[in-house]
Amino acid sequence: GIAALGEVLIPAINRVQDAFAAAGGLTFQLDLPQVAVVGSQSSGKSSVLESLVGRDFLPRGPDICTRRPLVLQLVHSAKGDEYGEFLHLPGETFTKFTKIRDEIEAETNRGAGSGKSISNVPIRLKIVSPHVLTMTLVDLPGITRVPVGNQPKDIEQRIRSMIMEYIKHQSCVILAVSPANVDLANSDALTLAKEVDPDGSRTIGVLTKLDIMDRGTNAVAALENKVVPLMLGYIGVVNRCQADINAGRDIRSAREAERKFFVQSEEYSSVAQVCGTINLAQRLNEILVRHIHKILPRLKRQIEFAREENFHKLQSLGDWSQSDSKSAQGALLLKMLTEYSQFFANHLDGQDGNLP
Ligand code: GDP
Ligand code: MG
Repeated sequence: GIAALGEVLIPAINRVQDAFAAAGGLTFQLDLPQVAVVGSQSSGKSSVLESLVGRDFLPRGPDICTRRPLVLQLVHSAKGDEYGEFLHLPGETFTKFTKIRDEIEAETNRGAGSGKSISNVPIRLKIVSPHVLTMTLVDLPGITRVPVGNQPKDIEQRIRSMIMEYIKHQSCVILAVSPANVDLANSDALTLAKEVDPDGSRTIGVLTKLDIMDRGTNAVAALENKVVPLMLGYIGVVNRCQADINAGRDIRSAREAERKFFVQSEEYSSVAQVCGTINLAQRLNEILVRHIHKILPRLKRQIEFAREENFHKLQSLGDWSQSDSKSAQGALLLKMLTEYSQFFANHLDGQDGNLP
């Protein structure tokens, strides 16, 4: 089924992504599928990601915290082990999620400086856990309009183009996060998504903060896809408020509170079945796998092309069977690219008509 397909395809894509990132300095472009989380600052993007992982591990607060893209590879572990690994710290395993947060903060400062500046160089983190579905997510800085601290005057433009770099690719699924207490017609997330995905075929809407809407209003029409319709629709979630976080309320109890919110609410009874974090995780995984399957032929061609390009570049470096680190890395990448284009080819052959 779809989930099983995801267990094979998504890790394969991840390994290609890592190899490209680690081999830095190679200039070819690959459109690898992932889910990018977009929205205005404080719309709840990081909260949604943490909730999908079921752990507190992201720097969070009322201020700008996400200052570099975070490429988050979630890998489902059937064995039940749970840990994190950064691409920039090979061989180091993090079993404490508070340490993961510290390292994200430290690495953010290393790349973007302390203060409030941003950088478009991504941090790559893998989280292996029995509580996640396998998928790749990207947390991005949120849209802001007024420069604060040491931010440049054109901060809004810079953040926008950083987000565009991710979501412009046809291979990117856009998770457009909008707070339910702001008019959907003013949503930064939907505005950005519309620019690159006008018919909404790869945008899924998430409405946060359903618990703190103006009294007497609700988001039922929006969740029923009647306000700003998207082909993939909307999912409503309730995350922790700042007071919960300050009081140290853990994410498991927050999920339980979310479940109760939907079960007990009369207003949301028509959409409760498809709302909440667990539904969001399943929908995302399913969308991502379908999407990968759809773009696989193009991806295979791109990988073959990248292999050709790289091949000549490495050959011009001299004898790449020598084991100095740069050519060894290049040789490894070549080998991987060959294997993966074969893997995708086999997959395409074997999968004909297998998807519902
Ligand atoms: P980001 O800037 O988009 O990453 O937003 P964050 O996830 O950091 O959240 C910003 C603030 O909104 C934090 O104080 C969160 O606690 C709060 N928040 C996020 N989602 C919800 C929600 O569903 N309900 C409530 N009450 N607060 C939320
Ligand atoms: Mg954030």
